[in-house]
Amino acid sequence: MSQLPTPVLDALTAIVGAEYVVTGAAACRQGSGDCYWYSPVLKPLLENKAADVIVHPGTVDELIAVVALAARERVPLILRGAGTGNYGQGVPMQGGILLNTKRLDRILELTPAAAKVETGILLKTVEQQARAIGAELRFFPSTLLTATAGGFLAGGSGGVGSITWGTLWDPGNVLGATVVTVEAQPQVIQVSDYQALQGVIHNCGLTCVIVDLTLALAPAQPWEQYALAFADIEAALRFAQALAYDEHVPKRLITALEWPLPSYFPLLVRAGASVEGKAQLLLQVVLDPAAMRARAEAAGGAVTWHGPHADYLRRGLWLVDYTWNHTTLWAMKADPTLTYLQDAFDPERLFEQVRLRKARYGAGVLEHVEFMQARGRIVPQGLSVVRHHSKAQLWELIAYCEEIGMRIANPHTHYLDEDSRWNGQPILDAKAAWDPHNLLNPGHLRAQEKMDTP
Ligand code: FAD
Repeated sequence: MSQLPTPVLDALTAIVGAEYVVTGAAACRQGSGDCYWYSPVLKPLLENKAADVIVHPGTVDELIAVVALAARERVPLILRGAGTGNYGQGVPMQGGILLNTKRLDRILELTPAAAKVETGILLKTVEQQARAIGAELRFFPSTLLTATAGGFLAGGSGGVGSITWGTLWDPGNVLGATVVTVEAQPQVIQVSDYQALQGVIHNCGLTCVIVDLTLALAPAQPWEQYALAFADIEAALRFAQALAYDEHVPKRLITALEWPLPSYFPLLVRAGASVEGKAQLLLQVVLDPAAMRARAEAAGGAVTWHGPHADYLRRGLWLVDYTWNHTTLWAMKADPTLTYLQDAFDPERLFEQVRLRKARYGAGVLEHVEFMQARGRIVPQGLSVVRHHSKAQLWELIAYCEEIGMRIANPHTHYLDEDSRWNGQPILDAKAAWDPHNLLNPGHLRAQEKMDTP
């Protein structure tokens, strides 16, 4: 049963309709979780947390009325898209109203240059509609098929396409957002200034309620998909790095995987794309098969699978399903003692850092590297798959990675201000201005928790 007073529940029902109000304990628990269970540290902390009620507004007016009610009644308000976030930052820590945005799913404006969309639209829909007019998303998470646009803006960072376009923080990728403040009389604010957007991007539902957003698009490309095999991870990384810096090849995906990670992908094994004992590259590029074969062979590798452009978006094998954090998912399915780290290599020290870790941890750390750009620089972004024994062992590994000059975004904390992508002051300023009663997503800022503890 919901802990909220009956008049609050009645008011919510009056706003969105009984069909779109969920109060059952089991249903609330189910609708409150995100993908925090990727982390063996977060799982026991978050698995029993739930909202008191879940509402599904169908219009912006309904959303604003729910926000106003939460502000008037001083009830915690948690925003939810598809719930594919990995860090538990969408999990209600103190009950309250969980506002699911998925019915707000309209495309408001679409040109080859940009898409203005409501927050709850699936990124897949944006990509498909953009491609129909010769454009495509600049980049997207590997959860393209399930994630919402607003959830990506508020909880994501980058993904497939980031090798060319960078991340959400890079200028020109996010062109604007409409946000609602959490007040008894909510304000609707258009944010388009780059500085102000820093309080919206990756705010993890802490600063504002995003109603719509405008994402810059890219011209659509006829992507080819390739799987390549190399003798070892260093050979694969050398090829990947050269490709990442090659300005003549349009690219969307450059993923390097140490063996046995390729063995965890059943469909790729069946297709012959994963080869026993070999490191693997998964690529989406514009390069014809003969040229790719020649390049691979010159570097001592081989093309093991090629998917033509017709296979794009799941009409067949879609390599994206095995990259970014999907790699971790397959690894955890194959071996539940595995988890992951988000560990950026220093581009100048990539091979040295790989060797140092290998010498210390052996098969306890399996290299998974996504090549991407961030703030104009090509970065080998690790999503290393690691064997987990205890929190202390994970923390020791993180400390060692930092000691050898790697940059860790710890995916085993749900506190936004412990994430290396924490934007600091712009988020705090936005929170103070737009959430004056501190109702948005409480319990996910370590600094605030310390202040609240007597
Ligand atoms: P949710 O999980 O619902 O929400 C994410 C955060 O945003 C929460 O804190 C929530 O409170 C907040 N939020 C949601 N909507 C609003 C709103 N309207 N206003 C304010 N706050 C809001 N992420 C990447 O960046 N790149 C990847 O490649 C990637 N790969 C992934 C692969 C797997 C297998 C999984 C499980 C996750 C991956 N993620 C990745 C994380 C996640 O899928 C993406 O960031 C995704 O875009 C989140 O969208 P969502 O709709 O699921 O958001």
